[in-house]
Amino acid sequence: MSQVETRQRNVLVTGGNRGIGYAIAAAFVDQGDKVVVTSRSGQGPDGAYAVAADVTRSDSVDAAFTEAEQWCGGPIEVVVANAGITADTLLMRMSDDDFDRVLDTNLAGTFRVARRASKSMIQRRFGRLIFISSVVALYGSPGQANYAASKAGLIGLARSITRELGGRGITANVVAPGFIDTDMTAALPQAQQDAYLAAIPAGRFGGTKDVARAVTFLAGEDAAYISGAVLPVDGGLGMGH
Ligand code: NDP
Repeated sequence: MSQVETRQRNVLVTGGNRGIGYAIAAAFVDQGDKVVVTSRSGQGPDGAYAVAADVTRSDSVDAAFTEAEQWCGGPIEVVVANAGITADTLLMRMSDDDFDRVLDTNLAGTFRVARRASKSMIQRRFGRLIFISSVVALYGSPGQANYAASKAGLIGLARSITRELGGRGITANVVAPGFIDTDMTAALPQAQQDAYLAAIPAGRFGGTKDVARAVTFLAGEDAAYISGAVLPVDGGLGMGH
């Protein structure tokens, strides 16, 4: 039996109704934490409390946190900003709307969630912020200028928060998944999926649990001195970037 001290935490996962966010929420439920998932639709895994929220609206994020805190009986201590969208197309065809809505959800949405969470984290002098980025943040990806820019922005966000709040017991880290088997990647053309597979040293796509394990590690006591880090979960796809 493990002698490592475990403590139940109040956890909020955005985009927890499917894919990577669902697996992350399930992993926290499995280890005994109180877990709230947010998304615009649907439910999270068994044992998690679901709140409808849209990360593109500050009032919606604020209301979701208030409801989450009531259900948990205390402030949110661990936040996983996972909600994200794509609107892939080549640069010359990318509309202002394609660019704006991806940045608004992926980058500004994470900012809204982190800002709301930071208030009680600062008071309690404890907090874990974990942002789900992507290998393409630093690797680049044709047809994903908007998405890659949004995911790269998360690194600047996490590192600035680390410098601002690192002395208050708050860590902010980035997880950068590679190609993970979910609805988002199933929508990619077969030729693009084949090209990615050929480039992955591990020789396989990742599973959602591969990402969830990295996230629970960063939220746990063993990661207390890790902040501003970018943790790749990509089978080696992005090495050197
Ligand atoms: P999915 O498309 O399966 O899930 C996206 C989630 O985000 C859903 O829960 C969706 O719920 C939620 N969401 C989208 N827009 C909003 C919004 N405005 N407000 C609140 N929630 C929203 O994606 P994945 O599980 O594949 O990806 C999860 C994260 O991991 C994303 O940030 C993605 O960029 C990142 N990622 C994924 C990789 C992969 O290979 N799959 C690789 C690298 C990174 P709803 O639509 O109901 O609101």
